[in-house]
Amino acid sequence: MSFFNSIGRSMNQSLPGTPTSPGVAKPLYLCSPFVEAALVKGNFKHIVMLPKYADVMEWVAVNIFDFYQNLNSFYGVLAECCTQQSCPSMSASPNLNYTWINQDRKSVQLPAPTYIDYVMTWAQNLLDDETVFPTKSGREFSQTFPSTVKHVYRQLLRVFAHLYHAHYPQILHLRSEPHFNSLFAHFLAFGKEYELLDIKDVKGQPGVPVGIGALWERWREMGILDS
Ligand SMILES: [Zn+2]
Repeated sequence: MSFFNSIGRSMNQSLPGTPTSPGVAKPLYLCSPFVEAALVKGNFKHIVMLPKYADVMEWVAVNIFDFYQNLNSFYGVLAECCTQQSCPSMSASPNLNYTWINQDRKSVQLPAPTYIDYVMTWAQNLLDDETVFPTKSGREFSQTFPSTVKHVYRQLLRVFAHLYHAHYPQILHLRSEPHFNSLFAHFLAFGKEYELLDIKDVKGQPGVPVGIGALWERWREMGILDS
């Protein structure tokens, strides 16, 4: 079964980067053909729907595990470009840097590779924890599972945001944008369907043509995602 609809393009063609307002260049990931590269035809809703007889907690757990694994693989390839020097902060747009809450509950700036390493290690430990993500039959999900997965979702979203903002040229160079777009659109659609995403986190400010908020808006306009 093929969900993907590849759009061919030549690496030699000049890359679009139309300025949308003085001083603000439109990021490549919002430009055609990249914004629609290899997305599922039509809407993602059918992929995220709970299969018949499946338990919703298990369905969420399995999907989060997959999103984590796929994002981790992408990051593994891009990690050599994401260094303390290239990314001294966890940037997600020209004027948005995420901060990390440390053990003293203080909000601190970290270089992106450090931030992402913390997120991925923390998420991996949760996924490996049988009390949080039970894998044996008959195990119950704890009452805190929904809030835990929302927390995981929010942090994975930040990793996506940084990769789109800071590493899209490398994603294009690897010709991975069809897969990366598909993974991210699936992640957004799933998060929306199961209320794991805080839409305010995604949508950003209206009228601001940068960041993953703008990508969300474009995909919504294209009918890829629900409003
Ligand atoms: Zn980076």
